Amino acid sequence: MGECPQQTPLFTFGVIADVQYADIDDGYNYSRTRRRYYRSSLQLLRNAQESWSESAVKPAFILQLGDIIDGFNKSRDASERALDTVLREFGSGSGSGSGSGSSPPEVHHVWGNHEFYNFSRSALLGSKLNSAVHPDGSPTGARAGGDIYAYRFSPFPGFTFVVLDAYDVSLLGREESSEQYSNAMNLIRQYNSNEDLNCPPECEGLQQRFTMFNGGFSKEQLDWLHSVLSSADEKREKVTIVSHLPVHPLSTDPICLAWNFDELLAIIRSHSSVVCFMAGHDHDGGYHWDKDTGVHHLTLAGVIETPPDDNAFGTVSVYEDRMELKGNGRIMDQVFGFP
Ligand code: ZN
Repeated sequence: MGECPQQTPLFTFGVIADVQYADIDDGYNYSRTRRRYYRSSLQLLRNAQESWSESAVKPAFILQLGDIIDGFNKSRDASERALDTVLREFGSGSGSGSGSGSSPPEVHHVWGNHEFYNFSRSALLGSKLNSAVHPDGSPTGARAGGDIYAYRFSPFPGFTFVVLDAYDVSLLGREESSEQYSNAMNLIRQYNSNEDLNCPPECEGLQQRFTMFNGGFSKEQLDWLHSVLSSADEKREKVTIVSHLPVHPLSTDPICLAWNFDELLAIIRSHSSVVCFMAGHDHDGGYHWDKDTGVHHLTLAGVIETPPDDNAFGTVSVYEDRMELKGNGRIMDQVFGFP
């Protein structure tokens, strides 16, 4: 209604992806083209946390987009210790409370492939990485059913966030004896005949996504998302969806796409409420604005492949008509206008 653009955001939140912490020396990615800074990723998380705690408008919450610790912790029997170390960093915004120290913002954890390299699905559901429940055990917001880790929350009137479970259909986190495991195996085997299923099928294009380090969304989860978005459409809410795996082929290397990205895009396209989709997993990051829907697809660059003298985190300020991403280090500033 005013003539000037709004200067004070309705709320802000922090974003960070693929910390992949491990107390081990630097290494390389699978194709040995990118260095991985396992130890210093903790310092980069600390930099992010300091920046958020010192900002004029404190973030209402933090989105941790998955792969918080590296799979290498598992073989070293260090999974719990590494998880405690990173979670302590997330929780140490104000130090040990003297006087007016405000408590650190709530963290919403997304689950990626590295969560499943370290922990079983049932262990994750009972862990501090399950942010569908508050520390006191009360639900954060409405959840998808069964052992699907997907939920919605509303940090501000008119705004909904949906955390999705991109490994609901996957070989990771499912018991080998389960029907879910054999269904996922049947699906991946239609496209990938390699002995090592972490090795992408030898083809160009989108079918390269059928690897073991990816996964997809079950029909139950898609139905649940559809109902959440229908209700958001009615209330004219603005919805941001977050997932470890990207779903738009132009927002990522196809090797990092969710298996049934097309079904998820079809759901987004059938609803007016979605404004933004945020993911991690592709450490180079990416971005695409889908003209047809007006939805912004942001893939956030990963901390793990960010050198110690650089940074990779962002702070998003939300206004009535847009979200403004203030990037640090490798993350670029961007404005996401609402359709
Ligand atoms: Zn990942």
